[in-house]
Parts: sequence; C-alpha cells; structure tokens
Amino acid sequence: MKKTLILSLSLFFFMVLPLASVEAQPKKIKIVSTTGQITDIVRIIGGDHVLVHGLMGPGVDPHLYKASESDVRKLANAQIIFYNGLNLEAKMSVIFQKMHRKLMVVAVSDKVPVNFLLDSVDYKGHYDPHIWFDLHLWKLCVEKIRDSLIEYDADHSDEYEKRANDYLKEIDKTHDYISKRSQELEENQRVLVTAHDAFRYFGRKYGFEVVGLQGISTESQAGAADVMRLADFITKRKIKALFVESSVPERNIKAVVEAVRSRNWDVKIGGELFSDALGDRGTVEGTYLGMVTHNIDTIVDSLK
Ligand SMILES: [Zn+2]
Repeated sequence: MKKTLILSLSLFFFMVLPLASVEAQPKKIKIVSTTGQITDIVRIIGGDHVLVHGLMGPGVDPHLYKASESDVRKLANAQIIFYNGLNLEAKMSVIFQKMHRKLMVVAVSDKVPVNFLLDSVDYKGHYDPHIWFDLHLWKLCVEKIRDSLIEYDADHSDEYEKRANDYLKEIDKTHDYISKRSQELEENQRVLVTAHDAFRYFGRKYGFEVVGLQGISTESQAGAADVMRLADFITKRKIKALFVESSVPERNIKAVVEAVRSRNWDVKIGGELFSDALGDRGTVEGTYLGMVTHNIDTIVDSLK
C-alpha cells in the first residue's frame, strides 16, 4: 500500500508537474540586442515570445562600448543577437564574428541598399551607421527584425507580421510629423549643430544642414581647432542654438558656447538630443518613436 502511494506520488511529480510548468510558462526566445533603439523594436515585434536583454542603456555611447565579461556570457547564452552594424558597435565586431558560428547574429542594417547609405567622412571605405534618423531607412531595419523572428520561430509568424505592420504604420505617422514640424522653420534656420555627426541621415531626409563638432564616431576627439572652426561658423551664420547629446559629454559643446560668446554672438544650448542612446525606460524618450519626436520638437522649438 505504502509502496503504491510512493510510486504514484513520484509519478505525479515526475510526469504531471513538469508538464504543468511547461504549459504555464511557454519557452521564450532569448535575445540580446545592442542599442536602445533596436531593443525597443525587438520587444515590440517579439511581444510575449521573446525575452530581450538590451546591452546599452540610457546615455551609453555605442561607438566606445566594450562588452563586459557578463555581457559575453549573456551573448553566448542567447538564441538571437541583434546589432546595428555598419561599424556602429566598433569594439564588438570580433565578438559578433565569433558568435556568428554558433547562433543567429543579425545586423539590422543588412537590408538597407548601399546606395542609400552615406559615406563616412572620417573612415574611408565605411558608411555612416546612424541610419535610424531616416525613418524610412529604419523601416527596413524593422522588417529585418520581423523577418529574422519569423525565420527563427515560424509558428508565430502571423503575430510578428501583424505587430510589425502596425508598427511600420506608426513610423510613417511619426515621419509625417517630423516633416511637418521641420517646415515650421525657414530654410536658413534649418541648421543643426550637435556634439558629433549623428544627424547626417536626419539632415538629408528632412532638409537640415548638419554640423557636428566631432566626426561620425565619438572616437575622434575634438581639438581646440575644431572648437574655433565651429565657433566661427555659428557666429558668421548667426545660429541661435546648438545641442548637446545624451550619450556624449557636454564639455566640448560648452567650450564652443564660450568661444562664440567671446565673438560677441550669443548662442544658447537648445536642449538635449537623444542621438545614439534612448532616454530612461518608462519615459517618452525611452522609446524609438519618442526619441525622434523629442528631438524634432527640441530642434524646432529652439531654432524658431
Ligand atoms: Zn554616433
């Protein structure tokens, strides 16, 4: 009698409980992504089927980011890795190459045709990686994320498709908003001066002349000559405002402001833009669409 009880109890634990726990918690796809703007999209398209760990939080500069030991462990345990590519995450390319042999490693910029890419001014033979600021190019990256999820998990393709379609429509709406707000500025007011050259795609798409103190990577340090050159430019063109970026130290931009003031022109810091990193999670700027909306509002309100 006792034996039977033990046997049936152990059968219960071995057979029924594991099944129950599997049913209660469907397996999620483990994903590691690099920048906040990619992480946001993967979470939205993946929904309940993915568990996403974003490596780069608010204020983190992807050009200089080096993977920590714990990052490498997380990357190795992932099923899919999403990164920007075009050498944005310059210090991580070797790791991605290694991981590529074992798991699905996806550069979201893969689908963007080369003729839409801007050449890097500072790095010959490379392209400018800041493609998320041309919203139509970023749609191709959203599609790349959608297609990769469908390839990995075809069972839920309908859901990925539906969520991607809804999101692509939201991007179109935000694109229209950015275009409309840009038109509030006269053509000669549309000059965007920032800490580094992150906004060239934005400038091309929405008709802004774009000038960065540092080049397209923050690796190249701005020197005194760059500060003087930019101060001359701002004074000559009588530009009202320049902008700091959440992922780049402010001190260089402050040096430019001082240099402009010594030339008897008063330029103000128009606010903080989110260039290579999102804002805090849970805030408007903590999402991709919130980031680009915040940027255009800050730019237009300061330059008007
Ligand atoms: Zn950048």
